[in-house]
Order: sequence, then structure tokens, then C-alpha cells
Amino acid sequence: MEKEIIVQKFGGSSVANIERIKNVAQRVVAYKNKHTQVAVVVSALGDTTDELEALAFQLSPTPPEREMAMLLSTGEQISCALLAMAIKALGYEAISFTGRQVGIKTDKIYTKARIITIDGRRIAKAFKENKIVIVAGYQGVTHDDDITTLGRGGSDLTAVALAKALKAKVCEIYTDVDGIYTADPRIVKEARKIKQITFDEMLEMAFLGAQVMQARSIEVAKRFNIPLHVRSSFSKEEGTMIVKETEKMEEIAVRGVTCNKNEAKITICSVPDKPGIAAKVFGEISKLGINVDTIVQNVPHDRLSDISFTVPKADLNKAIKATEAIGKKIGAGEVLEDRNIARVSLVGSGMRLHSGIAAKMFKILADEQINIGMISTSEISISCIIQQDLADKAIQALHKAFKLEQI
Ligand code: ASP
Ligand code: MG
Repeated sequence: MEKEIIVQKFGGSSVANIERIKNVAQRVVAYKNKHTQVAVVVSALGDTTDELEALAFQLSPTPPEREMAMLLSTGEQISCALLAMAIKALGYEAISFTGRQVGIKTDKIYTKARIITIDGRRIAKAFKENKIVIVAGYQGVTHDDDITTLGRGGSDLTAVALAKALKAKVCEIYTDVDGIYTADPRIVKEARKIKQITFDEMLEMAFLGAQVMQARSIEVAKRFNIPLHVRSSFSKEEGTMIVKETEKMEEIAVRGVTCNKNEAKITICSVPDKPGIAAKVFGEISKLGINVDTIVQNVPHDRLSDISFTVPKADLNKAIKATEAIGKKIGAGEVLEDRNIARVSLVGSGMRLHSGIAAKMFKILADEQINIGMISTSEISISCIIQQDLADKAIQALHKAFKLEQI
């Protein structure tokens, strides 16, 4: 009989040191004993990737992307080798592979590469030999044999893509929290663990600042309907299942409150008010692969207006450089930056059916004397950009007013 295949991904904090790696080895082996074929994906140890990134930034504010991928991919090579050793020390067969060795082919956006294909043959062979397979997360290789990384948090993407390629029954994401919460429990102590959440809600939450999973990996899981189980590597308790939407799940208007403090605002002042300007500004920025989020353009006066937009803090230097260059070309004024912002958002599939959520949100923030700088909405979320030091207060007030502790 064909054995069931399961993919398990362990995040950086789950493999932060040798003790934890041993603990992961125990867990993996326990699954293997249930007659399952296990493919494990690991992130780099603890904060390794941040540390490597910091080294690069000491050399240049805009390190070359190819070398950055080369550098950052090394973290996962360490953890997969160590985990394979830990499993072997328990008397089980295991083999570690880099992304390249298992044929993870990507495009050429070096540090935010997309997976094009996975050649599962090497893994299938290892399974036949009854080995536990450990794959280095977060990395792949271009058709020209250059190493790429899949964007921060990209081991999730490796795991989901492997689950698809191997036709796994489920993809388990082990992390240092025991599931998805209605809000960050460090900020809201009444926050509740959510049992089931839809792909769309999770996707929205990830985009809006919940740092539990990489957004792109959830997109892929949704596209191929791969159920995800987010759970703690430190406890046996069930976590949160991320699944396809059911009607019942739409009854709840607001599933959670999120906060993102990793964005910065750029304002380009005195922009000539004529057709094509926004296309030029954002065209240049998107060429750099930077995701622009909320955009606000002021009402023009004297045929000049200000355009503000948010970008991830990590891309701020690059974005400022590009904005200044384009500003000069179009005869705009100063370019300003503001790092002291936070995006506070409400998320819920039920928002499609319920009205008045936005108005209620604005009222709650007003009652707390919190000024709203920018607003953006999607079908299933509402976000306000506010001053960063007021973010915790905002989250607590929203969680309470929407009665999320009662869900
Ligand atoms: N180590 C990489 C990062 O920290 C990839 C991952 O953790 O998924 O972003
Ligand atoms: Mg990491």
C-alpha cells in the first residue's frame, strides 16, 4: 500500500539551537512511526537570516540581489544538515537536500523568486529507500544555475510547493505560536486561538501584518487547495486549520485584528497634476519589485499635489532612491519619509455580507483620539494607517469593541 505523505515545515525558532533541533527530530520520527512518509522543510536557525542580511547592509545600503540570495540561502543549508544528523542519531534514515538538489527551479528575481517547477524524483527515490527527507527551505535555482531565495519567510512556500508536488495529505507549519489568534496575544491578552480560518482570511491577515505565514505560500495553498495546519513545535495541541471557505465561516464578520509596523510612508511633494504622472512614479517603483500598498493623492492646489504611499521598510532605501530620481524627471518637489506608522486592520470573509464595519472602526478609533492618516479597504478587510505608538491601544480597543474574545 502507498504510504501517506506529509510535509512538515519547522520555522527558525523551532530549530534555533541543538536542543530544539533534537526536539524536532523526535517529532518527525514519531510521524514516521505512524507509517507516513515525511518530507521536512526547515528554515534557518533562529535569527540567522536577519544576521546575514545585516552583514550585507554593512557593506551597501542596496546589496546586489544575486549575492544577497547566495548569502541568505546558506542559513537553510546549515539547519537541514543538522536536522538530518539529529534524526540519524535517533537511529532513523534521513537525507538532507538543498533546493537545487531537489530540483526547485525558479525565475530570476533573485531574492523574491517564484517557483516554476519542482522535480520530485530525488525525493521519490529517497522515500522508496524509506528515508526521511529534509529539504532546505527558502531557496531554489534558476535555469542558469544561479541560487535564488523565495522572499522572507519563504520556507513556507517551499513547504506548500513540495506538498503539491508530492501530493501530500496535509502541510503542517510548525512555529513558535500555537495557531492563528484573533489578535497578537502579546498585545491583547484576551485574544483567542482560531480553530479554522479560510485561505482568503489568512492571506489577508498575512498581507496585513500577521507574521505567522508568508503570504505567497498561502496563495499557492489556496490555488491547489492544500489544507494547512499551523501549530506549535513546542506542544502537542492542535493549532489552526487553514481551509477552503464554507458558508458557516461567513457568518462571522470580523475574524481578527492585525497590525503591521513594518511599513514606511513616502510622500512626493508638489507633483504636477497631469495625466500619466502616477503611472510614471509607480511604474519605476514596481520595476524594482517593490510592493506599494496604500496610496493617497491630495487634492491639487496650483496644479500641484502630494502623493503618499506605503512600502515595506526593508525596501525603503531603494524606493526613496527611485522616487527621488523620478521626482527630478517630472519636476516634483521634495521626497519625505515617515517610519513611524502602523497599519491596523480588521479582517473577515463575513464583511462581504455585513455592512457598517468601516464606520464602526472609524468611530472606535475616534473615541480613542487616534488620528487616521490613510485608509484602504478590500472585499474582506479595512485598514487604517495611524501613528505607530498608538497601534497597541488601537488594537486593544478594536478587539474589545468587536467582541472578538467571544468567538
Ligand atoms: N530564513 C528565511 C527567513 O527568515 C526563510 C524562512 O524563515 O522561511 O526569512
Ligand atoms: Mg527565519
